[in-house]
Amino acid sequence: ASIPTPVNQPMLNYEVGSTHRKLLKEACAKLRNSSWDIPCVVGGKEIRTGDIQKQLICSDHNKVLATFHQANADVLKQAIDNAIESKVQWESLPFEDRAAIFLKTADLLNTKYRYDVLAATMLGQGKTVWQAEIDAAAETIDFLRFNTKYAQEIYEQQPPANSPGCWNRVEYRPLEGYVVAISPFNFTAIGANLPSAPALMGNVVLWKPASTAVLSNWIVYKAFLEAGLPAGVIQFIPGSGRLVGDHVFNNKNFAGLHFTGSTGVFNDIYKKTADNLVAGVYKGYPRIVGETGGKDFHFLHNSGDVENFVNNTLRGSFEYQGQKCSACSRAYIPQSLWPQIKDKLVAGVKSMKMGQSDDFSSFVSAVIDKNSFNNIQSYIEHAKASPDAEIIVGGKCDNSVGWFVEPTIILAKDPHYKSMEEEIFGPVLTIYVYEDSKFEETLQLCDQTSPYALTGAIFSTCRYAIATAHKYLKNAAGNFYINDKCTGAVVGQQPFGGARASGTNDKAGSSLNLLRWTTARTIKENF
Ligand code: GLU
Repeated sequence: ASIPTPVNQPMLNYEVGSTHRKLLKEACAKLRNSSWDIPCVVGGKEIRTGDIQKQLICSDHNKVLATFHQANADVLKQAIDNAIESKVQWESLPFEDRAAIFLKTADLLNTKYRYDVLAATMLGQGKTVWQAEIDAAAETIDFLRFNTKYAQEIYEQQPPANSPGCWNRVEYRPLEGYVVAISPFNFTAIGANLPSAPALMGNVVLWKPASTAVLSNWIVYKAFLEAGLPAGVIQFIPGSGRLVGDHVFNNKNFAGLHFTGSTGVFNDIYKKTADNLVAGVYKGYPRIVGETGGKDFHFLHNSGDVENFVNNTLRGSFEYQGQKCSACSRAYIPQSLWPQIKDKLVAGVKSMKMGQSDDFSSFVSAVIDKNSFNNIQSYIEHAKASPDAEIIVGGKCDNSVGWFVEPTIILAKDPHYKSMEEEIFGPVLTIYVYEDSKFEETLQLCDQTSPYALTGAIFSTCRYAIATAHKYLKNAAGNFYINDKCTGAVVGQQPFGGARASGTNDKAGSSLNLLRWTTARTIKENF
């Protein structure tokens, strides 16, 4: 098969007076006044269980964006049975035909569904227009297109040698059983990628989207179906994580997990599946692929460009309210530069406009839900009360209309202060100021401060300092940036994922990830 060579989807900027802006505004207005009712889909059939949950508009939480029907035990049983039945035909469909479906989905999401999926991401997940464009348009489309290319490269990998009179080959088979995809609220693109990557490799998938992202994910699902995805290849089963988990992981046909979410939930699933494996529940070792939390850092050396550091730190920490796994949430700044940087960071935060996510002039909006709001607020309250911390800007939380938390910067006197170590998943940056002469010790400290290792960045114009940072931080981040913010990995350019408590590091948006969804059979034939 010759897969079209992918290029990154160009981004639109919704400038005043443009048609794109008008169409997206209309889509947002329409969504605010509509009421979606989202079913489960099993074997191509919509099922309304009557166990209804709501998805709210996070910046205007008295408004319901959509209702959805949670999967129950019966639906989950049907989904598993139907997946296994559907597998026979799906896995024997030639790769080109599978690829065509996902390439067509990318086109549909770029045309017919473009504004709906963006509006759903803005209102439902609290993304401002630019953040929605990066995610629900560009990255979603990129995943679908680049994955087909990576898959093709895998299928073409064959043993380089044959001995006389024999022919060796490797067949890349889907896993024996089904794959479970559990996707997060914070990226519509991850919603699209987690079920489609295994399905592209011939697997059948049970997809549980996040309850707080259900509408955008449902639109992606509709695009899969419209692009020709056969019934039963991806089952759509929103609902309670615990109930879904009890069914899908306790079945002999469970063969793999494609997960993005919290470290705690991933660890619970890891344990459950390990216990089941040892108890002989499964046919084989399941493929467990997870991208989890982060405590991502920006590290400034005193040779660094101050403006560049400040701009990237403001963006890396506060865009999308700090709710990217990759968001910068701790920074190390040398004493000599601190006074000027402090002033610039404070001024930068004060100039950020916080507002409704569908107000195109907002730079930040609300956080995802009440639990998240309460959790973030507890860190801010802790900092207000602690002798080891000082809030230098922000700190207000107001949930009267939406879940609004001001972008907040905490100065930590102790490098092990709580918010230097723990993931908050909100617009809170904690800073530790180090003595310039202690660059190496502070790098070591940075490496050892948190259990995570997702993203990080060094800002320096000195090659020796950059090399030193490489040395001490080699295991501290799966995505390491030099003079750039630690968010915004681009599919096809920076494969994304981390190790330690941040996950299995099976890089989303790369052939490393797609390789996990295949089990290879080597064939030797004598002539
Ligand atoms: N890939 C995204 C980035 O580089 C983050 C994905 C996530 O939050 O899981 O910013």
